[in-house]
Amino acid sequence: MTFNTDTDNLPAAAEIADLQERVLAACLHMLDSGLITGTWGMACARTESGHVVVTPSGMNYRTLKPADLPVVDSGGRRILGTLRPSTETPMFTRLFALRPDIRAIAHTHSTSATGFACAGRSIPAVLAELAEAVGGPVPCAEYGRFGTPELADRIVEVAANVRAVLLRNHGVVTFGSSVEEASSAALVVEEAARVALVFDQLGGSGGIPQEEINALRQIHLQRYGQH
Ligand SMILES: [Zn+2]
Repeated sequence: MTFNTDTDNLPAAAEIADLQERVLAACLHMLDSGLITGTWGMACARTESGHVVVTPSGMNYRTLKPADLPVVDSGGRRILGTLRPSTETPMFTRLFALRPDIRAIAHTHSTSATGFACAGRSIPAVLAELAEAVGGPVPCAEYGRFGTPELADRIVEVAANVRAVLLRNHGVVTFGSSVEEASSAALVVEEAARVALVFDQLGGSGGIPQEEINALRQIHLQRYGQH
């Protein structure tokens, strides 16, 4: 493992190898679950040192090896790997800078959730699983050009208490303390969008009260967290 930098604050090789494997596995899981079409979706994870293991741009996840995943520094400069990082990397590095609590991000253009994003509508919290995994309705951020740091600013504006945000006319981002948590939140968001559409068609109204959403989220954190 040869780093393309002279900085001394480098991530440990074992940590990088572990994250490369888990980020690629999360992408394959999202691909198999129908959340990602082709290369329209990705994941990334931050190391203890603040570097980011990210998926490369325009590559088939099924033929990639974990070691092919590039590593960038907090400014988005590639420090490891030969493949060009995802074009959406500047948005991810900015998100990590703005939200130190986030360790991993998943990003998809999954169909139903993206339909809500294109309509500029949040996904209501009518499904208990969404309240648990995300912490409330999924808000929609104002439009920003894909991959830009400005789009990260728009995401953070609406993401105060939730782990998922819709990107207007674009797709979805989910956060987590691990890449597995972020990618499974992406699955729950797409499922919640589909359920919300049926709920609308049936003339449903109301949702889970905020107090109950908070209680469900707490139960989830106690069950799955590191407490
Ligand atoms: Zn995108």
